[in-house]
Amino acid sequence: MRPLLLLDIDGCLNPLVREAPGFTAYQLGGMPVLLNPEHGRWLCDLADLYELTWASSWERDSDLVAAKLGLPLGLPYVAFTRSDGWAAGEDWLDKLPAVSRYVGDRPLAWVDDVFGPEAQAWAESRGVPTLLVETDCRVGLTGEHVERLRAFTSVRG
Ligand SMILES: [Mg+2]
Repeated sequence: MRPLLLLDIDGCLNPLVREAPGFTAYQLGGMPVLLNPEHGRWLCDLADLYELTWASSWERDSDLVAAKLGLPLGLPYVAFTRSDGWAAGEDWLDKLPAVSRYVGDRPLAWVDDVFGPEAQAWAESRGVPTLLVETDCRVGLTGEHVERLRAFTSVRG
């Protein structure tokens, strides 16, 4: 079974800047979004190694992004609940409780621009291969991140 690749959108595939070279501006679900077709190609290649899974507050609307990047529609996604922080109206969603429930004991890589304070300790305590890849929210996913994701699966054999 392939490891999971948990993917954030905002700050990873959609850099939090007004414009960026190589990115195209869209309005998706009423939100301005910048997307780069190269990300779509990278992720399609990674789909040979990983089971792609959205871990974004876009939840099922991640399909709007998938369609623009040429990714399969209907990929699984982590659903977040009110108790995970939505009700508090905070601008930061602690994804860890829902992610932890979702992944069980499966090996995984998780790409996000904001990991909570407990994420690293959680990753180290899991006892199965777990890689956290933190992006710069102004830049998003880079080729160097993709190389780390590839290397992680080859180390696992
Ligand atoms: Mg984010």
